[in-house]
Amino acid sequence: MPELPEVEGVVRELSPVSIGRTISEVQVSDVIRRSKGLGKEAIVKGKTLEEFIDELATMKIVDITRRSKYIYFHLEKEGQLYLLVSHLGMSGAWFVVDELEDVVEQKFRKHIHVVLKMEDGGLLIYSDIRRFGELRLLQREEDYLPLLRMAPEPFDTDAEEHFIDMAALPKYGRKPIKEVIMDGHVISGCGNIYATEALFRRKIHPGRATERVSEKRKRELFREIVDVLQESIVAGGSSISDYRNINGEAGTMQTRLKMYGKKLCGKCGTDTKSMKIAGRTSVYCPQCQR
Ligand SMILES: [Zn+2]
Repeated sequence: MPELPEVEGVVRELSPVSIGRTISEVQVSDVIRRSKGLGKEAIVKGKTLEEFIDELATMKIVDITRRSKYIYFHLEKEGQLYLLVSHLGMSGAWFVVDELEDVVEQKFRKHIHVVLKMEDGGLLIYSDIRRFGELRLLQREEDYLPLLRMAPEPFDTDAEEHFIDMAALPKYGRKPIKEVIMDGHVISGCGNIYATEALFRRKIHPGRATERVSEKRKRELFREIVDVLQESIVAGGSSISDYRNINGEAGTMQTRLKMYGKKLCGKCGTDTKSMKIAGRTSVYCPQCQR
């Protein structure tokens, strides 16, 4: 599943090749059409397909930014600004190409769901193997409230205090620390991979109750999360399962991971253990993490 560093990588690569271009035509897959026909909302959320297609056509991409694990395409049409908000889900990927055949990997080409044809002839393509991704066309952030309820960006100056304040709330006290740091209302963009690594680096057991982690250790943990996210952005993200950047390339952060997906502890060599926390497999070292 793409996490914050992978999404940041997508934004950095999409921006120079997409900003300033105008959409001329929008195509969606039969899978999306069938899903809408059945009253479901595969990928395209919150609008009818007709609205989505008609409104998006002729919009100009004026900026692309990231907010937590969302990509924000800032669009403009007749002086009005819009937002196309993209969440990659488990396996969403964007490709900027001249033709469909340029999406080289078969598994991505087989699952193309949205094609934005550009005025200049190029294509901006959204592929999603497992279809857990989301596309929402909004006028502004306020039109989709979950976007407003997210914690500050982890790199913002107020993010650490936000974390400390939130983690002190009674409702989080008895929850495992790993569940709390992965809660998007508490910290933005800390998913399973980076939560696992940061807890390992700070020697904190993922199942430890949040109220039993001292404020000092919480602050150290928060800074470790920021560090590991930044390290991964520099490394181009982790290539685990179906993440690809827009050129179909993979990042290298996975080679630096010491705990996520490991059978042996990267530090002491002990067999790792795993437990389910909030439905996610949580790997840890029973020797190093307390
Ligand atoms: Zn160990």
